[in-house]
Amino acid sequence: MTERLYYQDCYLREFRAQVVETADAGRRVYLDRTAFYPTSGGQVHDLGVLTASGKEIAITEVADEEDGRILHFAAAPIAVGSQVHGSIDAARRRDHVQQHTGQHVLSAAFIQLFNMPTVSFHMGEESCTIDLETSGLSSAQAQKVELLANEVIAEDRPVSIRFVPLEEARKLGLRKLPPKQTGDLRLIDITNFDLTACGGTHVRATGQIGSILLRKIEKVKQGVRVEFVCGLRAVNTARRDYTTLTEAAALYSSHIYDVPEQVRKSLAEAKAAGKTQHKLLEELAELYAERLLAQAAGSPQIITQFFPDRDALFIKLLAQLVIVGNFQIGA
Ligand SMILES: [Zn+2]
Repeated sequence: MTERLYYQDCYLREFRAQVVETADAGRRVYLDRTAFYPTSGGQVHDLGVLTASGKEIAITEVADEEDGRILHFAAAPIAVGSQVHGSIDAARRRDHVQQHTGQHVLSAAFIQLFNMPTVSFHMGEESCTIDLETSGLSSAQAQKVELLANEVIAEDRPVSIRFVPLEEARKLGLRKLPPKQTGDLRLIDITNFDLTACGGTHVRATGQIGSILLRKIEKVKQGVRVEFVCGLRAVNTARRDYTTLTEAAALYSSHIYDVPEQVRKSLAEAKAAGKTQHKLLEELAELYAERLLAQAAGSPQIITQFFPDRDALFIKLLAQLVIVGNFQIGA
């Protein structure tokens, strides 16, 4: 078993360790202890470097093995027995911690307000999602949850880690109990708001989550999927939304909040213009048909005409009008 330093301290960025085993010619590395978080529980792995004999080697992936060991994928070989200095990518970890703890707050808010349990969590490159066990979620409900989650963030409630035996944990009314567990459970306690078992990395107080912004809500097979962003991702997303809206508003020379009304107006105008255009096209086709029929010689009359600038709709209209007069069309 690898000693997981992040279990006690999610803010540990630098550590010392020893290489206890390797595979793949030294590129798969097992340490006696590590602060690197492996991909698990919906949270993505850390990146960083291991420095061995003065040489920095990038860690490109970290995996959680079933036997409790953590596997580090190294960009260059590292020898067994080496003393290494580990350093994890702090910005990436902070982002993951914000998204992941934000998910705890959000899941608890969905339970408290509407009794909708979270059945799964996914952390993506740009946004995260949770799947809720529910038959539906209205936009008004989502906004209430978003508000409560952000109030909990604004209250800056302490988030603590503690280890308790399974039997004791059962009595504590946890939001989520892991399906199989041996030994003590690691509980994440958001003061007076949420208590759950989790092996991930979390903030020290909810204020560090920064903010939670709910995004797309969609029906999925087992319930409802809610997309969200936390912390700096929320800032980046809001910035991108605002830039997009500003660009759209400039096209209409309007305020950003008037964009939907302007779009509705434009769509209605385009629809009306389409109708007028179709009527004019019909009239033009009638004129062409009359002229072509008058010019066509022979029996049966054969019309051969090439329209390089007209679209298929016009040709179809024209053909129909000519056929109505029981004439054949030539290609
Ligand atoms: Zn967690």
